[in-house]
Amino acid sequence: METNFVEYKILSDKAGIILDAPHAKPPKADKFTGEIAKVVAERLKAPYVISKVSRLTQADLNRDENYPLPLQKQARLEYVNVLKHIKAGTNKPVIHIALHGIKDSYGYDFIIGTRHGKICDLKTAEKIKNLLETEFKKFNLQPVVVIDKLFPGDPSLEKLKKQIGGNYQIVQLEISRKFRDNYQKETIEVLKNVLKNLNLA
Ligand SMILES: [Zn+2]
Repeated sequence: METNFVEYKILSDKAGIILDAPHAKPPKADKFTGEIAKVVAERLKAPYVISKVSRLTQADLNRDENYPLPLQKQARLEYVNVLKHIKAGTNKPVIHIALHGIKDSYGYDFIIGTRHGKICDLKTAEKIKNLLETEFKKFNLQPVVVIDKLFPGDPSLEKLKKQIGGNYQIVQLEISRKFRDNYQKETIEVLKNVLKNLNLA
């Protein structure tokens, strides 16, 4: 489905997972996050939401509706509504994984952002960390995985969690350029396996 501001697809309401790439659109895109979100979602038969607006010139879906960009209000409202619509289609617990990109020079490959437990409980974050490390080991890769360092998530994510409501958690997953680009295939396969094995209670 296409709306003005996002591309989304509800592949199945049974996955309990939403893949999201709010900064997929250039200019100033988090490169490859749209592609990764889409392929992981397709393999999991999970819904995905991918931004069609640039965070630099149009609207930033990872900010609240008052952020000063020309299409911010409409775009953010539509984004929230699409997520509400997806959540309404299932009575399972849902975990929303928002993919972002960071520079390699920060020294982290994956930052699991929970806003210090406010948008996702730390037990689930630990589980994601352990699964990421275990799954990458199968490819002989040892990414640096941390929780809530440097980019724990924008405050608007707390608001979003409340707006969606119910058993709904959000993880902001920052991925280094190296893992989005050089190890993209491995990252897709690992994310698929991590999310499949998450078993949310
Ligand atoms: Zn981003």
